[in-house]
Amino acid sequence: MKIVVGHLFPDYLNIYADRGNMAVLARRAAWRGHELEVRGLGADDALRRGEHDLYYIGGGQDREQELIAPALAAHGEALRAAVGAGAVLLAVCGGYQLMGRFYRDQSGNDLPGVGLLPLHTVAGELRMIGDVLLECELEPGERRTLAGFENHAGRTYLDEGAEPLGRVLAGFGNDGESGYEGCRSGRAVGTYLHGPLLPRNPWLADWLLAQAIAHRTGEAPIFDPLEDDLEAAAHEVSAARARARGGRF
Ligand code: GLN
Repeated sequence: MKIVVGHLFPDYLNIYADRGNMAVLARRAAWRGHELEVRGLGADDALRRGEHDLYYIGGGQDREQELIAPALAAHGEALRAAVGAGAVLLAVCGGYQLMGRFYRDQSGNDLPGVGLLPLHTVAGELRMIGDVLLECELEPGERRTLAGFENHAGRTYLDEGAEPLGRVLAGFGNDGESGYEGCRSGRAVGTYLHGPLLPRNPWLADWLLAQAIAHRTGEAPIFDPLEDDLEAAAHEVSAARARARGGRF
């Protein structure tokens, strides 16, 4: 079947090869006989409920976030409705910050957010940079690790009762203090993890694809495992680097 992806502001929010996440989704979908169609979405594009199975937004510097935040916020209602109706979302770093209520950037400007995830972000002095390792449980009883790279000035604060994506085993995470990273709300996932994220965490790519198919068919498929030796090795290298650095400024 065809899985339709809406890639939000791909020309502005795409640092640390975040676009690579799309390549992984496309390849892993194809290995299961599915086609991934990626459509770029900008300020003038309409977001119609049911049209996209998965929305993706990458990271960027404050300057790029300033350029697109008002236009992205203008898509807020449609994006909340589409995700509320079961579409999947993956938001990385600068894109993750703009899925909350606002991002107060390093110049002290409040950039409007989409208000889809229960959080807000305030930039701090020192950047939080380095390899990160998380423990996640997207499906009850299925504990997994996520390995990636973070580089952000923003400190993200989740609302009371909000669900983080994972517990920090090594690295800074949302704010360098809470011990948590990212945010998960149903099929919407936000994270600071670059790398890009999905090549070294294929289980998350498969989870996102299965949820995207469920959006279209009503049922999440159980995929046959693929030979992920290279991916597993990349994960281990990243995890080892994260463990080696711990979580200091
Ligand atoms: N500009 C934001 C910050 O510094 C996000 C950075 C990013 O996407 N890597 O926190």
